[in-house]
Amino acid sequence: MPPNTPSPPVAQPPGLQHVIQFSGGVGSALSALHVAERVDPSTMTLLIADTQVEDPDLWRFSRDLADLIGVPLTIVADGRDPWQLFRDQRFLANDRLALCTRHLKQIPCRTWMQHNAPPETSIAYVGIEPTKKDRPRAAAITRNWAPWTVEFPLLDGPDRTKAELLEELRERGLKPPRMYELGFEHNNCGGACVRAGQKQWRHLLQTFPDRYARAETEEEKIRAYLGKDVSILKRTRNGITQRLTLATLRREQEAT
Ligand code: SF4
Repeated sequence: MPPNTPSPPVAQPPGLQHVIQFSGGVGSALSALHVAERVDPSTMTLLIADTQVEDPDLWRFSRDLADLIGVPLTIVADGRDPWQLFRDQRFLANDRLALCTRHLKQIPCRTWMQHNAPPETSIAYVGIEPTKKDRPRAAAITRNWAPWTVEFPLLDGPDRTKAELLEELRERGLKPPRMYELGFEHNNCGGACVRAGQKQWRHLLQTFPDRYARAETEEEKIRAYLGKDVSILKRTRNGITQRLTLATLRREQEAT
């Protein structure tokens, strides 16, 4: 079956809730659309965590999706943005330990599930993209969501590129989030993600210098607050790994 061919309706046990762990990205949006073809939308929830630093167009896209499938957004939030969290935790997150995902996304969504979606009668849907890189994440995500049952609607089909996934969104009548068109791999935290590498931070500097400037300022504030040589980025040269602050990266970029 082609990847964007609707699955035949499957009889669902009465009272079953279908909770999409919606991130604002293409994978979880398509997952929601695929689930909406199989179940009564009135039994679905579009659950999304607000990190307070999302690109405004993420919310335009989220509303468009909600309108298309007829399911209102359910927005949860810790209330802090990543920088406030890092200060409170006295820890600057990085690609090896992104505690912001846990505190600003996973915990608020899980708390909502605990209060609103009993594991016995609820399924959590996660929009992992069908790529060789992302498929292996499914096992750990399933373990982390226990005792809920987790399904990955896009993993049933073949591997697909981001461009193919975005095209499916368009075919289904949704204008993709602008962050993809602007060259970002993901639509999260406005492109200022602690998990991103040097390439994306350089791209952020060019595309959203104001966001880069805020991140640089916040990184410097945390370094001063902690009194430690911490940084989001590291780099290895001649076998030696060193910290790389956003201020240094910007100066190097401006010098080229
Ligand atoms: S998208 Fe990046 S910065 Fe935002 S919460 Fe997740 S890991 Fe942290």
